[in-house]
Amino acid sequence: MKLFADFHTHTKYSHGKGTVKENVYSALKKGLKAVGISEHGPNNIGVGTNLKDFERIKKEIEQLKKEFKEIDILFGCEANVISLEGDLDIPEEILEQMDYVMVGLHPQIWGKSIKDTYHILIENYLVKTINTYLQKVMKQNTQALINAMERYKIDIITHPGLHMPIDTGILAKKAAEKGTALEINAGHDHTTVEYIRIAKRQGVKFALGSDAHEPERVGELSRAIKLAKEAGLTKTDIINAL
Ligand SMILES: [Zn+2]
Ligand SMILES: [Zn+2]
Repeated sequence: MKLFADFHTHTKYSHGKGTVKENVYSALKKGLKAVGISEHGPNNIGVGTNLKDFERIKKEIEQLKKEFKEIDILFGCEANVISLEGDLDIPEEILEQMDYVMVGLHPQIWGKSIKDTYHILIENYLVKTINTYLQKVMKQNTQALINAMERYKIDIITHPGLHMPIDTGILAKKAAEKGTALEINAGHDHTTVEYIRIAKRQGVKFALGSDAHEPERVGELSRAIKLAKEAGLTKTDIINAL
């Protein structure tokens, strides 16, 4: 299984360690044909990228494209779902300028309202100790992502199930219907073969992503490849496989 792209990389614009150029250079060294810069939306507490910086990233990418002809440099994001209705923290007019849109659930975010912050931040914290919350919170989280897919054109959902429980089957069914890929994240160890198998049964496609926060880790997809193979995926199941 040969992968040609890594769509999930972070830079100093959020809490990554490297620059856009360093991520591109690292991807090129690893033999990738495409690399995406996918910064966090502004609502991640302490690490979000402000909306003005997305403009700067876009300009930087335009410059780098002149310098690096051998690799496609893509302008993307990892937007946050900030309400149970599926609102994202990056406005549509900025999303439209991007080459692709990734969306992830993160618990450490400011919600659209106090109520949303409660549902996303507080309840997902409580669910770790109060087990009776699990069904309610899982249903809410899953529905928030489904609502986001209904409202926006989303290419990839990042790390489903990381820190926030979701119903994989229900999510994958909607993702398959919308043409949204689910990520197999190589940067966190929460992903299981079981998750991939359940999702695959719904006919969804997958994207393997490094979630690199350091340039050296861009294109580091071996953990995700191993899981994908164990789950029986082939290159036709994976949008960034050759
Ligand atoms: Zn993330
Ligand atoms: Zn990420």
